[in-house]
Amino acid sequence: MGRIYNFSAGPAVLPEEVLQEAAAEMMDYQGCGMSVMEMSHRSKVYDKIIKDAEQDLRDLLNIPDNYKVLFLQGGASLIFASVPMNLMKNRKAGYILTGQWAKKAFAEAKIYGEAIELASSADKTFSYIPDCSDLDIPEDLDYVYICENNTIYGTKFHKLPNTKGKILVSDVSSCFLSEPIDVTKYGMLYAGVQKNVGPAGVQIVIIREDLLTDDVLPYTPTMMKYKIHADNESLYNTPPCYGIYICGKVFKWIKAMGGLEVMKKRNEEKAKVLYDFLDQSKLFKGTVVPEDRSLMNVPFVTGDEALDAEFIAAAKAAGFENLKGHRTVGGMRASIYNAMPKEGVEKLVAFMKKFEEEHA
Ligand SMILES: *Cc1c(COP(=O)(O)O)cnc(C)c1O
Repeated sequence: MGRIYNFSAGPAVLPEEVLQEAAAEMMDYQGCGMSVMEMSHRSKVYDKIIKDAEQDLRDLLNIPDNYKVLFLQGGASLIFASVPMNLMKNRKAGYILTGQWAKKAFAEAKIYGEAIELASSADKTFSYIPDCSDLDIPEDLDYVYICENNTIYGTKFHKLPNTKGKILVSDVSSCFLSEPIDVTKYGMLYAGVQKNVGPAGVQIVIIREDLLTDDVLPYTPTMMKYKIHADNESLYNTPPCYGIYICGKVFKWIKAMGGLEVMKKRNEEKAKVLYDFLDQSKLFKGTVVPEDRSLMNVPFVTGDEALDAEFIAAAKAAGFENLKGHRTVGGMRASIYNAMPKEGVEKLVAFMKKFEEEHA
């Protein structure tokens, strides 16, 4: 059996070239006589792997020298806790609630201090991004937190909130490296890589140097202190070595494709194929207001749960996998990350057309 079109929200599709290279290097990495999985994280060979990965990421995102790049473990969900532990100096932070992941981060922050809801789109099932141009931001707020691309609901902040000078912290898990960004607009951004960049098990944190201090909340575990990881160049303890190696290959793949401007163009073209179809379809409809649509995660419904289930099953049989929407929202969701070829989306749309005709 060949490879299917995988629309999973995460862990998700990776570039075939990357998987093939990794397969070729599996038994013997560049003449070392061992797999990357088997080598010491303190070896010269591995040091080059992690340093090259960092440099390639810096090149892709134009990361300024006063920002550190950390490769961590524990899931994006652990970062929901390490953000307040490291950054809540006044024990007060503002959260913009645009979906499940922002809500989880908000709930976690409440364990450590006062977390304030600055804005929310819960009133319309998170189908839009609230206006964040003039939020009521208290003077003593430590940071403003957003989930920039909402993996489950398919919305994206196309304009960052006006934080009125406060630090912006952003969860970019599901849009990381999908388009260029201006790193200087953030105090910290982070991504669980299993959405758009690599295998589960690696979190990438990009954080401004002046925010790395020993002044963290009491009882913060050593492993959750960003400064420890920065001081040790992500080698304080054993990092997720193999995952970082794959991320490094994906960075090189993106570079070879032409970088993030090219990725953005590809992603816009790809998403347009699906959104244009949804906008004229009589059977399927997108669930997000057009101006806040994500390029990465596209939820849609027929309005009839039984028909949704029939569609998902028929699509699976035809080689389109993982189109079921998140368990909390139902319907369908196509995640069309960097590594999903345009051809995959075109074929999915052709299949949807046929399904629609058959159910007219
Ligand atoms: C998947 C996801 C998470 C949770 O990631 P884990 O690594 O499973 O903890 C957090 N934020 C966003 C935006 C996600 O898409």
